[in-house]
Amino acid sequence: MHNFDFAAARQEMVERQIRRRGVEDRLVLEAMERVERHRFVAADHLRLAYEDTALPISAGQSISQPYMVAAMTEALELTANSRVLEIGTGSGYQTAVLAEIAARVYTVERISELSQAAMELLQSLGYSSIRFRIGDGSRGWSEEAPFDAIMVTAGAAHVPPALLEQLVDDGCLVIPVGGPPDQDLYQIRRHGNSFERRFITRCRFVPLIEDEES
Ligand code: SAH
Repeated sequence: MHNFDFAAARQEMVERQIRRRGVEDRLVLEAMERVERHRFVAADHLRLAYEDTALPISAGQSISQPYMVAAMTEALELTANSRVLEIGTGSGYQTAVLAEIAARVYTVERISELSQAAMELLQSLGYSSIRFRIGDGSRGWSEEAPFDAIMVTAGAAHVPPALLEQLVDDGCLVIPVGGPPDQDLYQIRRHGNSFERRFITRCRFVPLIEDEES
């Protein structure tokens, strides 16, 4: 798009919406500076790519607000060695932010069209440490478990037990619980077989849709 400085808009986004609101983790701030959010929004929303808001993507879903992406990523307490599971690939934007920091990212999306589009985009951007799966992520990804960190980017009626089981000891699950329409965002840390819950903020995500047990 002519006459629009995406890089400047992105820097301003990181400074005003993210750093000033209290996100401190240098790895997260650098990842948010690197990932070009405008690649992940719909063509008619390009100029809104660095605004302080979620935006609609296809299939009635949405790309999360930049601040929410940063705050949730910080709450995962990632290192360069982390293996991360993400539930709700959507546009793939959050996936890219995770892949900038962590060693490996496993991402699950129930809508095949979204998973496919995110996979093509992320591969074209050069990400090679991400694995994609289509299906109900509330069951986790048992073949690749345990994970150092797990993030759910859809609002869950309850915390899926499989996700707790697939965390390493001392690992964190970040998940919006409740609603619709609003949820409480929690960081849940595993200590052996007990789980410590910390409230982060109120939030509004599209619902996590679980398959019926067969
Ligand atoms: N992180 C994404 C958020 C997308 S919205 C982004 O910023 O673009 C949440 C996504 O979760 C939607 O794409 C929705 O289809 C997906 N979703 C909902 N329930 C799911 C489930 N049980 N398993 C996997 N994905 C799910």
